[in-house]
Amino acid sequence: MKRVYHFIGKNAEGSAKMKNDLGGKGANLAEMASIGVPVPPGFTITTQTCLEYYKEGGMPKGLMDEVVKNLKLVEKDQKLALGDKEKPLLVSVRSGARVSMPGMMDTVLNLGLNDDTVEGLAKMSDNPRFAWDCYRRFIQMFGDVVMNVRPSKEEEDPFELILAKVKKDKGVSSDTELAVEDLKQLVSEYKKLVKEKTGRDFPVEPMQQLEEAIKAVFSSWHNERANKYRQLNGIPDEWGTAVNVQTMVYGNMGDDSATGVAFTRDPATGDKRFFGEYLANAQGEDVVAGIRTPQPINKAAKTEDSQVSLEEKFPEAYKELVAIYQRLEKHYKEMQDMEFTIQNERLYLLQTRTGKRTGFASVRIAFEMEKEGLIDKNEALRRVDPYGLEQLLAPIFDAKDTAKAKGEGRNLAKGLNASPGAATGQVVFFADDAGKYPKSILVRIETSPEDIGGMISAQGILTARGGMTSHAAVVARGMGKPCVAGCGALQISYKNRQMKAGGQTIKEGDFISIDGSTGQIYEGQIPVNPSEVVQVFIKKTKTVKEAPAAEMFDKLLKWADDVKKLGVRANADTPADSAVAIAFGAKGIGLTRTEHMFFGGDRILAVREMILANDVAGREKALAKLLPMQREDFEGIFEVMNGLPVIIRLLDPPLHEFLPHEAKEQKEMADVMGISAEVVKEKVDSLHEFNPMLGHRGCRLGITYPEITVMQTKAIIEAACNMQKKGIKVIPEIMVPLIGHVREYVNQRDVIKKVAEETIKEKGVKLEYMIGTMIEVPRAALTADDVAKEAEFFSFGTNDLTQMTCGFSRDDAGKFLGDYVEKKIYAKDPFASLDQDGVGRIIKIAVDMGRAANSKLEIGICGEHGGDPDSVKFCHRVGMDYVSCSPYRVPLARLAAAQAVLEEKK
Ligand code: ADP
Ligand code: MG
Ligand code: MG
Repeated sequence: MKRVYHFIGKNAEGSAKMKNDLGGKGANLAEMASIGVPVPPGFTITTQTCLEYYKEGGMPKGLMDEVVKNLKLVEKDQKLALGDKEKPLLVSVRSGARVSMPGMMDTVLNLGLNDDTVEGLAKMSDNPRFAWDCYRRFIQMFGDVVMNVRPSKEEEDPFELILAKVKKDKGVSSDTELAVEDLKQLVSEYKKLVKEKTGRDFPVEPMQQLEEAIKAVFSSWHNERANKYRQLNGIPDEWGTAVNVQTMVYGNMGDDSATGVAFTRDPATGDKRFFGEYLANAQGEDVVAGIRTPQPINKAAKTEDSQVSLEEKFPEAYKELVAIYQRLEKHYKEMQDMEFTIQNERLYLLQTRTGKRTGFASVRIAFEMEKEGLIDKNEALRRVDPYGLEQLLAPIFDAKDTAKAKGEGRNLAKGLNASPGAATGQVVFFADDAGKYPKSILVRIETSPEDIGGMISAQGILTARGGMTSHAAVVARGMGKPCVAGCGALQISYKNRQMKAGGQTIKEGDFISIDGSTGQIYEGQIPVNPSEVVQVFIKKTKTVKEAPAAEMFDKLLKWADDVKKLGVRANADTPADSAVAIAFGAKGIGLTRTEHMFFGGDRILAVREMILANDVAGREKALAKLLPMQREDFEGIFEVMNGLPVIIRLLDPPLHEFLPHEAKEQKEMADVMGISAEVVKEKVDSLHEFNPMLGHRGCRLGITYPEITVMQTKAIIEAACNMQKKGIKVIPEIMVPLIGHVREYVNQRDVIKKVAEETIKEKGVKLEYMIGTMIEVPRAALTADDVAKEAEFFSFGTNDLTQMTCGFSRDDAGKFLGDYVEKKIYAKDPFASLDQDGVGRIIKIAVDMGRAANSKLEIGICGEHGGDPDSVKFCHRVGMDYVSCSPYRVPLARLAAAQAVLEEKK
């Protein structure tokens, strides 16, 4: 099998289509080269070779021969040779998986240098300072990545310590001010360090350097950071990484050289403007590492006069870069994130890939690219991450509140608006501490991949150094977390766990507020407010015209509605929730939990009276008090839903949840009922269950106490008739919970039907209604044909179904499910995302059998999974009629339902 693919000018063996084999970086390098974009030549070793490496426990046989063969082609093209003393070729060795994993894998630059070739490079470039700068960088990177010379957690980077010392001795502040002699000194001290730490000499033979570096890239696929990132992003271990070996171009050759990164659109806001940063006389990661503060790409992006944009400093290269970015965006029809280097004013592209963006930007870019005719509506829908849509619902600060904070002198400083959204919380300076407070803001000089855990638990991220493309900014955008980056005014002391800003000292545990949309940071707390979308559709305090985000949100979801086949309903227990559901586009209610209505005000007393009653008469007396209240609740919901279907579930939870467990409450109940507190206590004790989740609950309640079912049915049907009389159409669907046996269902159905018919007759109106059941006990699912012959609808209660199918108690699983996911026993928490192979299989069996037995059967899902994009797609595939989820998840479900259809087309 071919293991190595070269890209040498237009003669490239790979293409953008080969991402699985060449990784994203390699495939796009080949693609760019083949369409004539200036890319330094090189070759890519396939991802399968990485897997071979793991299988064989070392370098696959014959691989290095293929490498040498391709290296020769590059050498010939460049008229240079690896290890040549006069004309040395230097290469970079770069990792690159199918999807980009920022900062997760390691790259070595300037490979091929030793004490001889460095002299050749100095002569060839007529620039000894540059040559030695490359050499010291190479030893540091190779030492770190390949030879594992790195600091432990408390230590500082030993290479950086040496560098800082040399700079201090020479009295310079920037790397670029170091003279040749200083760099030579660095090289010699670095080599000593490597020998000291590893016990071996730094390898001088370039071919050996290359082989070791390739091995190191393969190995880095399984380093801790990479493993963590893959887990977080659901990337399979079996993909492996490719290795790219590429001719070096030098951004550190002097003041006419530079390196930078650029996006074809603004990754934070989605704004259509060329966006990027660069550093003159710098190499590789310098821009993202936050060592020097980068400069803006063009005049339009300058925030201070003192800045020098690429457009001004390198006008020719800038012009060419603009032409290339426009070409690349058109070619890929997608927002690109590019790396470039300028060597002696000549531009080279080193990478292009689909740019990461906030959810906010993803909606905007997809929407605008459709308007520009670059992509069609379907493609726009495919491109929006359903979770990204949720970011449009993320909170913001109110302008009034920030103005007030400013008035009080609480504005501390301003950084870059790296990832939108508002956050307020207590300051922590170490990722490990982020969990210490309920809401924390992680403040770092700069973040690194080790900080990921802390970034996940923090509300927001604030850094002192680094630009819009720094690690903090990129990762925060990926997570949809508010982030302010590069806030130079902060003076952070890790040692004292405090920072100074705006003349104030902020200690760990103090509150601050950050606005990732403006970059402003404030001392103290600021109330966090609903997003524009919520203000327009829910609060109705703004109109669509005043809120561009809301307009895009609205249009995009309308496109989704045109495509999707699944219905989307909401789980709502109150008229207010129902109104939110409607505002977000729900077309019905998939679950109203009647028990939620039992807790408010005096109701709980009536409920307790019913449970504690000794006989039917006592229960009926208490139920009579509840009936008008329930009826009123249903009327409210029916009114809001105005003709859309509403599923109401009969009483479900274990009765003990309603009981008074404290002496004071028991006394109160005793007084209400005119009995002694002792009797109440005895009754409560007698209702104790060892495992209430599998105890006296669900339809079992209605079977032992049919009067409860009678009362609830009456309330539902009376409410429906009353609305009908007012001219509001109502379609109630009455749902029996937790059946396992068809006879449980039939028992309850007969009670419901009798009461419903009587009530309708009494009220003298015509009313359509349905009776059906939840499918949440595996036995019910496995006998779905029997059940479907009797029921008019199924609603999968996937919370209980997951609990009972997997045998995980919902209340206790939190303790071990984290481990299960980490150890990859389950890919995701099965309560959050449907376990499609197991629980999903039972669902599919039940759907198929149910439909075969009753072709008119209506089928939906009402568990938490109804709002999880992958689960929604599953529901589409098995042929359900609708999903039902919490009101705020409705938009996400609409989009996922459309994507499910589009995925079938592909
Ligand atoms: P990552 O995947 O972490 O971005 P890269 O392999 O893209 O790592 O490389 C890290 C940095 O080194 C980038 O800034 C890249 O542009 C730069 N770089 C990589 N190869 C070369 C090269 N051949 N010449 C100049 N710069 C390079
Ligand atoms: Mg890169
Ligand atoms: Mg249930």
